Amino acid sequence: MTLDLETRFTRTPLGFFPSPVHPLKRLSKALGINLWAKRDDVSSGLAFGGNKVRKLEWLASEAIAQGCDTLVSIGNIQSNHTRQVAAVAAALGMKCRLVQEAWTKWEDPAYEQVGNILLSRLMGATTVLEGEGYSTEIKETWQRALEEVRREGGKPYAIPAGASDHPLGGLGYASFADEVVRQEAEHDIFFDTVITATCTGSTQGGMIAGFHGQQRPRRLIGIDTACNESMTRAAVTKSARQTAELIGLSGEVRDEDVIIDPRFAGPDYGLPDEATLSAIRMGAQMEAMLTDPVYEGKSLAGLIAMARSGEIAPGSNVLYVHLGGAPALNAYHRAFE
Ligand SMILES: *Cc1c(COP(=O)(O)O)cnc(C)c1O
Repeated sequence: MTLDLETRFTRTPLGFFPSPVHPLKRLSKALGINLWAKRDDVSSGLAFGGNKVRKLEWLASEAIAQGCDTLVSIGNIQSNHTRQVAAVAAALGMKCRLVQEAWTKWEDPAYEQVGNILLSRLMGATTVLEGEGYSTEIKETWQRALEEVRREGGKPYAIPAGASDHPLGGLGYASFADEVVRQEAEHDIFFDTVITATCTGSTQGGMIAGFHGQQRPRRLIGIDTACNESMTRAAVTKSARQTAELIGLSGEVRDEDVIIDPRFAGPDYGLPDEATLSAIRMGAQMEAMLTDPVYEGKSLAGLIAMARSGEIAPGSNVLYVHLGGAPALNAYHRAFE
């Protein structure tokens, strides 16, 4: 069954979809599983892309339809999400105002100058450095940014952190589920286990909704990167249920459909531990696949640990969903010294 989202909602093409899917041969051999990667990190020509582009395709249509002229969003100082919002604004000829909060205590002056934030500035976004602390709550800093745009006579379109807590936030990854099934048919394979990083919720939430409509059950594991399992679980569950309802799925999303693994989140949001760093090195040195200390290094660390412990059974067909994030690497150079 396909969800047929394109005929019911408007998508503004911003990426190259389907994103590539390919085997990770050397890692497969090292881990004793049949490991493939789904490369949403290389699925757009807009400023290094990443998972937010897939979500923003659906939100951008609404922004255009409402006649908005400024995209307003919020994230960490090294947010991939806000960089992708800046990219979408540039590509659509809109203005962009970004609240860049300190969600991570990373002692390096370069943190506010290189990587994602550099790219956002280069693309013409206004970056406002104020506020701190990751939370899925609606932030007053973000409200203020929206107000500021209105005061200047602009028409803002509000995009929450990670484009998640938004009615259309889960559509991108619901359609991802369809994409995976088509690629499985092409390659004559079925991925029994899917591993994704999870944080603000609509990546995993959208996937849960999308996979929910399919015949064959599979295990989708979200590796928490917020270092706050209950907050992540609430965000993913909300997105999954909201998306399932929006696309008209029968059958409810149950609590047990939401699998969040908290063991690989490191000491805090945005801070890697030894396992994160060693996974980043392993991916880079065995596959030239670049992952970051905030998200994908953690999901890769989880995958490696579960394959080694047998929690992912030997010989399993595993799909590692790569959501982007490598543009933050330079800002974290000290982690690798
Ligand atoms: C935003 C992001 C995630 C988390 O996705 P959510 O939809 O916020 O759960 C994972 N990896 C990367 C690289 C991201 O930018």
